[in-house]
Amino acid sequence: MSVIYNRVALIGLGLIAGSMAHAMRESGLAGEIIGHARSEATRDIAREIGLCDRICDSAAEAVAGADLVVLAVPVGAMGQVAAEIAPHLAPGATVTDVGSVKQAVIDAVGPHIPEGVHFIPGHPLAGTEHSGPRSGFASLFRNRWWLLTPLPGADPQATDRLSGLIAAMGAKTDRMEPGHHDLVLAVTSHAPHLIAYTMVGVADHLRRVTDEEVIQYSAAGFRDFTRIAASDPTMWRDVFLHNREATLDILGRFTEELFVLQRAIRMGDGDQLFDYFSRTRAIRRGIIEAGQDTEAPDFGRTPGAKP
Ligand code: NAP
Repeated sequence: MSVIYNRVALIGLGLIAGSMAHAMRESGLAGEIIGHARSEATRDIAREIGLCDRICDSAAEAVAGADLVVLAVPVGAMGQVAAEIAPHLAPGATVTDVGSVKQAVIDAVGPHIPEGVHFIPGHPLAGTEHSGPRSGFASLFRNRWWLLTPLPGADPQATDRLSGLIAAMGAKTDRMEPGHHDLVLAVTSHAPHLIAYTMVGVADHLRRVTDEEVIQYSAAGFRDFTRIAASDPTMWRDVFLHNREATLDILGRFTEELFVLQRAIRMGDGDQLFDYFSRTRAIRRGIIEAGQDTEAPDFGRTPGAKP
């Protein structure tokens, strides 16, 4: 494939930025990849493993002359990073982000973007529970969705060019209104993560069993919850703080459903439980048919393979 952006600046060098660097390198999509991370420790690792062509000590230095700037930091840090880089952005450049929440990022970043620079928010629906500069891999986005939430009046050419890069990294793109994105993600990602965190927390409170039976005999259900609950604490704290309304809405509905099932169990209503579980099984089949997971157990991963 050919070069889509001459110079890409990655601000934040964790799972998502690292995976982008690998994916862009693999297909030769960027003339040059420049990186910056907040801590010296991360910058040192990035230099050591050759994650980018050049690692800069400041975000301002990293974005100078870039035609694409990717903000790949936790959602709560986006505004501050945008303020820092704004005076150094090249005219005509595109700024995108990969944050898991969209409206809050638009509110925080949008006001800092200078005239003549295109801001096109985005969110790759791909991830693992791992984080940091060593966690990225080129195939993370392959066959996954990457949603863009362009603002009204966004430059169509700049948006198409970014979509082109995303497609060339193997992902499928779609466009969505930011508020709708936040509601959809509250259902499909944010609330499920909170439920996993809670379930693992419940087991942890039962200290007596946690030390022994729960860990030792951990079967697929609980084990998979622990995988999700091992996700980065900073990232997920910020997701909940910045997608508050939608997450609370979905959790309210979840609690109602939980009471319905709790009552069915108490009343011995097997038919209701069977019908409910039959409907949820059909949803799982739909996800597999849509190519968003495989039939294989353990989230489709083979032991020892890259997540
Ligand atoms: P990550 O692996 O934890 O890396 C985060 C990066 O952001 C690190 O380089 C870190 O720098 C930097 N950072 C952290 N706090 C910062 C702050 N206050 N100011 C400036 N930089 C800061 O994270 P990630 O998984 O790549 O996530 C990055 C973004 O992608 C987040 O907005 C997240 O919501 C979104 N996202 C994540 C996933 C996922 O599954 N992980 C999926 C889709 C989207 P240091 O290393 O120097 O601390």
